[in-house]
Amino acid sequence: MQIFDVIVIGAGAAGMMCAMQAGRRGRRIILLEHASVIGKKLRISGGGRCNFTNLNAGPEHYVSANPDFCRSALSRYTPEDFIALVRAHGIAFHEKTLGQLFCDHSAQQIIDMLVEQCRTAGVTMRLDCRVRTVEKTHHFIAKTTQGDYAAPSLVIATGGLSLPKAGATDFGYRIAKQFGLRIIETAPALDAFVFAAQDAQCFEGLAGVSMPAIVSCNGASFREAILLTHTGLSGPAALQASLYWRSGDMVHVDLLPETTLEALMRWFAQQQSSGSRAEIKTLLAERVPQRIAERFCELHRVTKKPLAQQSAEAITALCRGLKDWRFTPRSTVGYRTAEVTRGGVDTRELSSKTMESHKVPGLYFIGEVVDVTGWLGGYNFQWAWASGWAAGQAV
Ligand SMILES: Cc1cc2nc3c(=O)[nH]c(=O)nc-3n(C[C@H](O)[C@H](O)[C@H](O)COP(=O)(O)OP(=O)(O)OC[C@H]3O[C@@H](n4cnc5c(N)ncnc54)[C@H](O)[C@@H]3O)c2cc1C
Repeated sequence: MQIFDVIVIGAGAAGMMCAMQAGRRGRRIILLEHASVIGKKLRISGGGRCNFTNLNAGPEHYVSANPDFCRSALSRYTPEDFIALVRAHGIAFHEKTLGQLFCDHSAQQIIDMLVEQCRTAGVTMRLDCRVRTVEKTHHFIAKTTQGDYAAPSLVIATGGLSLPKAGATDFGYRIAKQFGLRIIETAPALDAFVFAAQDAQCFEGLAGVSMPAIVSCNGASFREAILLTHTGLSGPAALQASLYWRSGDMVHVDLLPETTLEALMRWFAQQQSSGSRAEIKTLLAERVPQRIAERFCELHRVTKKPLAQQSAEAITALCRGLKDWRFTPRSTVGYRTAEVTRGGVDTRELSSKTMESHKVPGLYFIGEVVDVTGWLGGYNFQWAWASGWAAGQAV
């Protein structure tokens, strides 16, 4: 049995941040990872360029049963702190949009930086190492495929359930349950919506159509692009809204975010009074993609008569449909594609300052396994860095 000060399980974003911080403080750290390579999720993140933080990250960009929990960690390790680290390693980056920072070249640079930081902090790493059991005597004992390790502190950084092919497991939740900690129900999030049967029929053949829109669900609204797929609705605005969606909830889409309902109706009225001979779908195609214009005219039974001959009721119904297209998704696609897992270890069980369990001293949970889930756009990595940093100061 080898004795360390801290065992960290999971060498992802949060685990490596925690290990390097604690290592710098002179703690003897063992970092256990069941995959044979480090940072699989980091490597594919941000389309291979890792959207490693967001300049605007604040508690309002996170969903949790306790929205204030993330405040302390986020304020003590900020986007600027991570940017300073990235700069010190000479990694070139740029802001893409909405405060989202991406590497100019490759996400691998972030992984290499974290691995180097762990090495210089004296962290011992074990890859391909499966943890069979965790027990607690006066120390935590992790029995693994590469031997047994004991330490007074154990940090669980095994992430959520999203993307099993990148190494995701339910290990963190199992450990939480084993030690009697509550879990907020988990669900795939930042995921595309799947249409119910009747909507799938209505919107068949539109896969690939993309446009700006506002997608709203349960009081949260996101103005970004949407993308129709073979099975439903994707694109950043839809993924963001999925974070707030619960089974049975309705999703609202505004397909003409740059105009109001009244202005849209006025526009049609003006065209009408000018005696336009054009069909509505032709006029509408000036403002939304043609396939959307055609499909919404069909769905609202707008006839092929010229605009001048359309009834005011038909035009009003069409405008309403475009400004507030509503559907109740059957589901989201699921963990196979979801970027994150909503829910997780109940934050009421943890100290917001250190991430340590109130019930089990020495046991810490950080990163995505905790019930703190960020918006799309670098917020989830910022939570991983901030929660990892907080635990790294305490273990
Ligand atoms: C396709 C995709 C793209 C994304 N892009 C972004 C982005 O650009 N920006 C952003 O902010 N967020 C992004 N995310 C979300 C982000 O990757 C996660 O929120 C973040 O990685 C969570 O960090 P973590 O350290 O908690 O977990 P992870 O990074 O998932 O790390 C967990 C680690 O634990 C290991 N592990 C799991 N089970 C065990 C076990 N039983 N024993 C040992 N080790 C184990 C895993 O192999 C993994 O290495 C993306 C997610 C996906 C799926």
